[in-house]
Amino acid sequence: MTTLHPVLLVTGGSRGIGASVCRLAAASGWQVAVNYAANAAAAEAVVDDIRGAGGSAVAIEGDVGTEAGLASIFSALDATFSRLDGLVNNAGIVGHPARVDEISVERLDRMFAVNVIGSIRCAQEAVRRMSTRHGGRGGAIVNISSMAAVLGSAGQYVDYAATKGAIESFTTGLAREVAAEGIRVNLVRPGIIDTDIHASGGLPDRARDMATAIPMQRPGTPDEVAQSVLYLLSDAASYVTGAALNVSGGR
Ligand code: NAP
Repeated sequence: MTTLHPVLLVTGGSRGIGASVCRLAAASGWQVAVNYAANAAAAEAVVDDIRGAGGSAVAIEGDVGTEAGLASIFSALDATFSRLDGLVNNAGIVGHPARVDEISVERLDRMFAVNVIGSIRCAQEAVRRMSTRHGGRGGAIVNISSMAAVLGSAGQYVDYAATKGAIESFTTGLAREVAAEGIRVNLVRPGIIDTDIHASGGLPDRARDMATAIPMQRPGTPDEVAQSVLYLLSDAASYVTGAALNVSGGR
């Protein structure tokens, strides 16, 4: 593929917030690697949309929660593009509502493997390719946290909230570590956004049911989150690093 345009890897780009980021990034001139874990048809639909609109994208399968998945993501990325300029650590999972004293160790292992270790491992691979210290030309990383990192999600999924808290500390530290190497690292905290994630957590109506608890009285859309992600990726945010942006309707 042409190397003229910057290349963006979006983990979990097949659905929800990630899919909106992929479409908006392609419309802004990025070549997009649309990562997915299982839903190849959804990823291919995003790629088809982007190509249909004149943009450039490929679908890349791989579970960010496993070393094998990470290896296949980055080998496919390197085989397709000869550069990497941006990473959006978006892939994330929730569990069904449970108290902390009910959560299994298997659930904790998987939650932290995907949401925390997967994001840190992708950031490592991105820094190896983008840092001027490693001969790269710099770049930007945006980590998708959650208002849960601040609110704690008591009685629903404190484990999930804790994974997002870890991502927030990681963002602060990595931003400072690579600030002089041409890489900016920021995070977005979505509030309640209308995507499939609520159904995957056993609460398909959660976004609508929670509307009255949101100051704006409505859930957000994936595109509203994607707009903030694109800002943080862009040169308009050239002096912004280590920042957290709430996209939560005031929640
Ligand atoms: P979603 O609709 O459930 O979509 C999840 C996406 O992540 C899908 O593309 C899925 O791929 C992918 N994915 C899941 N596990 C993966 C893995 N192990 N490896 C690679 N990809 C994986 O989720 P969403 O609501 O858009 O959430 C995106 C991010 O925003 C998450 O980090 C979430 O925690 C965060 N967030 C969401 C909300 C909200 O209200 N929606 C609020 C705050 C934060 P497949 O299609 O292959 O399954």
